[in-house]
Amino acid sequence: MYKRIKGTLDIWGDDIWYWYKIEKTAREVSMRYGYEEIRTPVIEPTELFVRSVGEETDIVQKEMYTFEDRGGRSITLRPEGTAPVVRAFLENAMINKGFPQRFFYIGPMFRYEKPQLGRMRQFHQFGFELIGSSSPLADVEIISMVNRFLKSLGLYRFKIVLNSIGCPKCRVNYRNALKNYYSEHYDELCDDCKRRYNTNILRLLDCKVDVELAEKAPKSVDYLCDECKKHYETVKRYLKIVGIDFEEEHKLVRGLDYYTRTVFEVRHELLGAQDSLGGGGRYDRLFEDMGGPQIPALGFASGIERIILAMKEEKVRVERENPHEVYFAVLGRKAYEKAFKLAEEIRNAGINVDMDVMERNLRGQLKHADRVSSYISLILGENELNRNIVIMRDMETGYQIEIDLDYVVEYVIDKVKKEH
Ligand code: AMP
Repeated sequence: MYKRIKGTLDIWGDDIWYWYKIEKTAREVSMRYGYEEIRTPVIEPTELFVRSVGEETDIVQKEMYTFEDRGGRSITLRPEGTAPVVRAFLENAMINKGFPQRFFYIGPMFRYEKPQLGRMRQFHQFGFELIGSSSPLADVEIISMVNRFLKSLGLYRFKIVLNSIGCPKCRVNYRNALKNYYSEHYDELCDDCKRRYNTNILRLLDCKVDVELAEKAPKSVDYLCDECKKHYETVKRYLKIVGIDFEEEHKLVRGLDYYTRTVFEVRHELLGAQDSLGGGGRYDRLFEDMGGPQIPALGFASGIERIILAMKEEKVRVERENPHEVYFAVLGRKAYEKAFKLAEEIRNAGINVDMDVMERNLRGQLKHADRVSSYISLILGENELNRNIVIMRDMETGYQIEIDLDYVVEYVIDKVKKEH
């Protein structure tokens, strides 16, 4: 027997309703703010992620699914959604449509991580990107959307944490301050941090090992240039105006290299170690880094699997549809001919009909109707057909009546729509 690849999930059964709810809400909230969907390929040139996500990030260092295709090209299963959107934007000359442009995406991402609860090798993200605005108002729009998305899902026990990591200009001073600070503690650092000390000092702040050192490290907000400071203050002021709670977190730098200025993350109270529901920030230099013009932008991405864990923790109820509203039990060749026609007519009215295709006996068929929780069963045998009636059985109460075959469609529509 074949087994699924480690770190992947089959999504089915009861969980499907959570996916529907999240995907539907994601689309609705996106539209509400003027965002349009974009679907990019799952495979991209490896170089795209190396350039954008950053050579020194965990993703590029050890998590990418990279392989050579038959034509000798290096290909990577996308580990995140922003770089592909930027690539698509530049490649399709979307710049010609003017600014701002707003996109959302939903789809699978791939990272070779150590699988655990809330951490998968194939996981799914809903994300959105706002391209073309350097204004702090754009930051506020994105954070408002995140907040509305999670609240619309019925989630409350999350918090939004915020930081500003400045622009390349002010980051020089900040980097130096960090270098000074960490040089005094160099021997205490974990091996990863020792390496990152030289290659990407900001990363030391989100090390899971050297947490205490990071806690006391210099804060990026104390090193912001005037423009970055003003930007950050405006974001905070507007968030208060629109009534969005947030906490400032100076250790927040996020795991991708392309961020500038505002970075933020959503954490859920009940999720333990993998408590990040999503994160985002500004990436004002990414377009340039990828060979395009200078275009300011920002975005956010959330992990759907983690959102489902959070919804379950918060005991959020999700709507379920019954694909077996009506069960059609049939006996005899002539009756099947009539039943097939009737079932289509009931379906035309928007009602879900599950019809016997096993040619079982009546007991077997009704047992099936019970198992799949049909609201009603229609029973049609040769005898009923000759009398021009069908038997309607209410599966909850066991109540049965005979209905004239000419009125059965109207009857079923009325009963199912009224009672369910
Ligand atoms: P990132 O793209 O790293 O900023 O991650 C954004 C969000 O995607 C995180 O907050 C998680 O909710 C989700 N996520 C990232 N990596 C994984 C993973 N390996 N498994 C499940 N969810 C993930």
